[in-house]
Amino acid sequence: MDYGDKEDFFMEFGADYGYPNGPKSIDEIRATEFKRLENGSVYLDHAGATLYSELQMEAIFKDLTTNVYGNPHSQSDFSTTTCDIVREARQQVLDYCNASPEDYKCIFTSGATAALKLIGETFPWSQQSCFMYTMENHNSVLGIREYALSHGAAAFAIDIEETVDHDGLSRSPETSMNVSLHPVQRRNEPEFAEIEPAGNAYSLFAFPSECNFSGSRFTLDLVNVMKKNRARILENSPSSQGHWMVLVDAAKGSVTQPPDLSKYPADFVVMSFYKIFGYPTGLGALIIRNDVAKLLKKTYFSGGTVAASIADIDFVKRRQGVEELFEDGTASFLSIASIHHGFNLINSLTVSAICRHTTSLAIYVRKMLLGLRHDNGASICKIYGRLSSKVSSHESGPIVTFNLKRPDGSWFGYREVEKLASLSGIQLRTGCFCNPGACAKYLGLSHLDLLSNIEGGHVCWDDNDIIRGKPTGAVRISFGYMSTYEDAKKFIDFVKSSFVLLPNKTANGNLLIASSIPLSKEG
Ligand SMILES: *Cc1c(COP(=O)(O)O)cnc(C)c1O
Repeated sequence: MDYGDKEDFFMEFGADYGYPNGPKSIDEIRATEFKRLENGSVYLDHAGATLYSELQMEAIFKDLTTNVYGNPHSQSDFSTTTCDIVREARQQVLDYCNASPEDYKCIFTSGATAALKLIGETFPWSQQSCFMYTMENHNSVLGIREYALSHGAAAFAIDIEETVDHDGLSRSPETSMNVSLHPVQRRNEPEFAEIEPAGNAYSLFAFPSECNFSGSRFTLDLVNVMKKNRARILENSPSSQGHWMVLVDAAKGSVTQPPDLSKYPADFVVMSFYKIFGYPTGLGALIIRNDVAKLLKKTYFSGGTVAASIADIDFVKRRQGVEELFEDGTASFLSIASIHHGFNLINSLTVSAICRHTTSLAIYVRKMLLGLRHDNGASICKIYGRLSSKVSSHESGPIVTFNLKRPDGSWFGYREVEKLASLSGIQLRTGCFCNPGACAKYLGLSHLDLLSNIEGGHVCWDDNDIIRGKPTGAVRISFGYMSTYEDAKKFIDFVKSSFVLLPNKTANGNLLIASSIPLSKEG
C-alpha cells in the first residue's frame, strides 16, 4: 500500500489511530491542549521527553494557587494536606503498575536514574553476588555495575534473543530463548569464595521493558523465568545459585505498557514522570517489593530518614517505614502534588489507547521508510531493532531508529540528518541515546571499533557521526500520545525530499542546504 494520503493511512490504522473511542479525538487534543505546536513544529523526541498538555498545566496552576501545601514533616494542617496528597500520589503510581500495596511501596526519587542509583547503593552485594543485565540498557542501569564490581561481585551482560514461531504466536512463556553471556572482567577476585556459600548471596538482573534505543520490548516473562526457572537463562552456571532479584527499567516502557506487577512480580521498577506526561521533570519513582526493601542496606541518613541521632557520638536511629527510610530530605511535594493531573489525563485516554495510537504511527513510519528507494533501486534506510524485519509487529514501542544511505550504499551522517531536520522544523534525536550496548549491537561496532573511536576523540555528543565508513550512532524519532499522522507524514516527506536522490535532482534547494554543511558528501 502506498499511503499516499490520509485515507490510505486510515484504511489500515483507523481503528488504532486518534482515540476513536476516547473522550476527545486526536485533532481536538492538538487544537485545545497543544496550541503551542500550531506554528508547524514537528516534535519527534518523546522518548527524550514527552510534552505536557496545556490543560494539564492549567489544572496544576489552579491546584497550586488554591491549595496551601506545607512541609510534610511539619505538624500543621497544611502539612496534613501535603501528606494526604503524597499518599494518594503513591497509590496512583502503584495502581498504574497494578501493584498491590500489600506487596509494594512507591518511593519517590528525583527520576529513574536516582531510583537506579539508590538500588545500586543499597543492594546487599557480596563477593558471591552477580549483576547481570541485558546488552540493551541505559547508562543509568549500567552504572549499577560500579557498585557490584567494587564489592567484588561478578558482572555479566547478556544477549537474549527470543525465538519466535512463524505463525507470529510468540510471547507465550514457552517461547524459546537464545542466550549469550558476556562476562565483564572482575575487579577483585573473591578472596573468601569458599567461606561464604553462593547459595546465600543476592544477585540482581536488570532489563528495560522497552529499549530506549530501538523501541524493542522485552517480555516481562523474564521476571518469572528468573524467579522460577533460571536454568533457562543461566543453565548450570554457578551464578544461578543464590537469591535473584529482578529490576525492570520501565522509564520508557511505562509510557505505553506499564508493567503489570500482579502478573510479573519484579522486585524493583523504576520510572520518570516527564516521560509519561511531560511535567513535572525531576520526579520519578522506585516501586519496590516490601520484603526486598528490608534487605537493602542504606548508609546515609538525613532529615526525613532519621528518627533520632546524636550530633557528637556514633548513634542514629532510623525511621521504620520504607518510604521514610529511603526518601532523604524533603520530598519534592509540589511536583508530587502535580502528578495526579498527569495521570488523570493518561487515564482518560487510557494507556492501551495511547499504546495503539503511538504504535500505529511507528509502524506507518517504518513501512514508509523501508519502502523508500533511490533512483538506482537501492534502499535508503536501515532500521534498527530486534524485529525490524517484521515491521507491523506490536513488539516494538513508538520508536523508529535508523540510519540513511546514499545510492552507493555509503551512509549519511546522523548529524547531517539532524541539522537538515531542524531546518525543516523537525525535532529528533541522534547519537546512541545513552544506550551504548544497543548502539554497539545494532551498528555492529566491535570493542576494537568502540575503543579506537574513543581513542580518536569521539564522545557522546560530538559531530563524529561516521568513523572509517561506519556510523557511530543513529537517528531516532519517537511518538507521544499527542503525535499525529501529519507529524509522521511531514517527517516522511522531509526524508524523501532531502535524502532520496533522483538523477534530475540537481539545482534543488535541499541540495543547496546540504552542500552548505561540511559533513555532507553528495553521491
Ligand atoms: C529516560 C530513560 C532513563 C533515564 O531516566 P531519567 O529520567 O533521565 O533519570 C533510563 N532508562 C530508560 C530506558 C530511559 O528511557
